Amino acid sequence: MNKGLLIVLSGPSGVGKGTVCSVLRKKMPDLVYSVSATTRSPRQGEIDGVNYFFKTREQFQEMMACDALLEHAEYVGNCYGTPRDFVERTLAGGQDVILEIEVQGALKVKEKFPEGVFIFLVPPSLDELKQRITGRGTETQDTINHRMTVAEEEMNLLSHYDYAVVNDEIEAACHRIESIITAEHCKASKY
Ligand code: 5GP
Repeated sequence: MNKGLLIVLSGPSGVGKGTVCSVLRKKMPDLVYSVSATTRSPRQGEIDGVNYFFKTREQFQEMMACDALLEHAEYVGNCYGTPRDFVERTLAGGQDVILEIEVQGALKVKEKFPEGVFIFLVPPSLDELKQRITGRGTETQDTINHRMTVAEEEMNLLSHYDYAVVNDEIEAACHRIESIITAEHCKASKY
């Protein structure tokens, strides 16, 4: 059996990774979404085990210590990480897995899975990005400023990715990502 594709969707906070992922999951029901662990507090409506596995710092450190995370990163004061076992088992079972993670974590995954498909979701502009983060209404001004500083640094790492997809319009961005996944499956090297 062929292994599944590991798809890493990354890009600055607020660019719309979450929305793109939820649309993709509806369009591509066979695509398996990896649920991350985080020490961040749940936002209104977020469900443990669905949006994230919400952990204390101690629980997160324990996961790190027993090598349960494929990658992890500290982002704006909180820890985020990808549970390793789920991803490895799902890929081995022949299913594609998508990770929705920030840039530092994506680069760590690239070291371990260079055969993965690395997609950077690009905001139409930094002004638009700030409006999107502010418009969510879930962050304080300090956090918004911090996220914007990190976003500008993250944009500089675009060249490490295989694909850049501008999220100007959600359906169009999802369509481009679907096409990328289809093309990756059609690579002659897979035969
Ligand atoms: P948020 O707090 O807005 O849910 O997520 C903050 C950032 O952490 C986003 O860029 C999100 O993609 C990223 N993130 C979510 N899960 C993970 C993960 O498992 N690993 C890493 N490195 N980043 C993650």
